[in-house]
Amino acid sequence: MEELTRKAVETALSEGATYADIRIIEITRENITTRNGKVRNVGIGRSKGFGIRVIVDGAWGFSSHYELTPTEIEKVAKEAVKIAKASAKLKKKDVKLAPAKPVRDTYKTPYKKDPFKVPLEEKIKLLIESDKRIMSKGDLIKVATSGMRIYRENKIFANSEGSYITQEITWCGATTRAVAVGYGDVQDRSYDGRNFNTGGYEIIEDANLLEAAEKSGEEAIKLLQAKNCPSMVTDLIIGGSQLALQIHESCGHPTELDRALGAEAAYAGTSFLTPDKLGKFRYGSNIVNLVADATAPRGLGTFGYDDEGVPAQKVYLVKEGIFVNYLSDRTSAGELGLPSSSGAARASGWNRIPIVRMTNINLEPGDWDFDELIQETKKGLYVETNRSWSIDDKRLNFQFGTQIAYLIENGEFKELIKNAVYTGITPEFWGSCDAICNEKYWKMWGTPNCGKGQPGQVMYVGHGTAPARFKNIRVFGGVRR
Ligand SMILES: [Zn+2]
Repeated sequence: MEELTRKAVETALSEGATYADIRIIEITRENITTRNGKVRNVGIGRSKGFGIRVIVDGAWGFSSHYELTPTEIEKVAKEAVKIAKASAKLKKKDVKLAPAKPVRDTYKTPYKKDPFKVPLEEKIKLLIESDKRIMSKGDLIKVATSGMRIYRENKIFANSEGSYITQEITWCGATTRAVAVGYGDVQDRSYDGRNFNTGGYEIIEDANLLEAAEKSGEEAIKLLQAKNCPSMVTDLIIGGSQLALQIHESCGHPTELDRALGAEAAYAGTSFLTPDKLGKFRYGSNIVNLVADATAPRGLGTFGYDDEGVPAQKVYLVKEGIFVNYLSDRTSAGELGLPSSSGAARASGWNRIPIVRMTNINLEPGDWDFDELIQETKKGLYVETNRSWSIDDKRLNFQFGTQIAYLIENGEFKELIKNAVYTGITPEFWGSCDAICNEKYWKMWGTPNCGKGQPGQVMYVGHGTAPARFKNIRVFGGVRR
């Protein structure tokens, strides 16, 4: 393999490139879904190929192909150079890569049980049983679905600076969802679209899917007759999974440096966190510490090296409430004059160019015990699990709907509430954060479906969170869909 990568780099350099890299990638995935106790879909897919990226005359060129042969590598390298030369005619400024040390290394996601080796029948049996547990809750349950996703990426990265890195990333997870219909209403409850982690089948075994299925069935039915969320300004306690979405949308995306520099404007794409705010803008209260941590165990954004061969790092994006860094790749870091990339260049496959992506964007734990936090809340609302979201293109004004909520009165959970929606403006909202639960309640959630780029790239990222409280937040009862 190393010989093939050398051929790619040498061809590109001899054609005039000042920098070249190649990624050889094989992705294997298995997706299984069941619905009402029957198999709905079993998808097993494999994607294999390579992509070559070059800089010529200060401009990027990229080309890729599925056939990994010396002839094809040479052809693709030459093509990438040709594309770069064409791009150079239209460039506004030269690409300046932030420096990175050459690396020779290997990384593999640690796991106990290879999820691809667990028999398909066993996986299907678990999901069907999960559906049945939901349906056992009664006739009001109209839809019971369960699903499992297993993913593996084997990749080699090599560049003209002398790096040669092989990696194997494995992640998986299982989810369950109940839809109940009755009393003139429709409600759903899931556990949970964010139950994905890097690791082996032990992740699915440890997740108690069947218990989650029972709970989702019971809660979907209870929600039908629950009170609609009242309109009020109140103390909001956000559960871990919903907080993962909150961080994803209001911290993860706006700290992507390519967006902040105006180079990436798709999918609600610019950012209010412009470079003039770096190091001084108050993003949140003193207790808010948000990190991009590609070294955190179990995260979907955990790896040895990013897709430019930059080592996994833990970088503060927000420290004690102040916005202090961006997610960056070598190009955007170079453009802003940062000393190095924060190691966030990721590509969704061999035929896509790496762009700035989230790794694991985590809220660091605070010092509160969850029960104490509830006890210390006189009047408030606890919300959990995302149902709908909307955020403007600068990532400032947002409105998020949740599946389930409880009123809190005098330090106790009271009534079950449905259709709770909360709204805010990012820095005001994080500025109102006055309590974060401790490590005991901290969990790594996964978002396997983050979209960005043109052509589109779907990426898997992580979010470690513990429940947290936000003061004086506007909530109201949303209408379903
Ligand atoms: Zn996203």
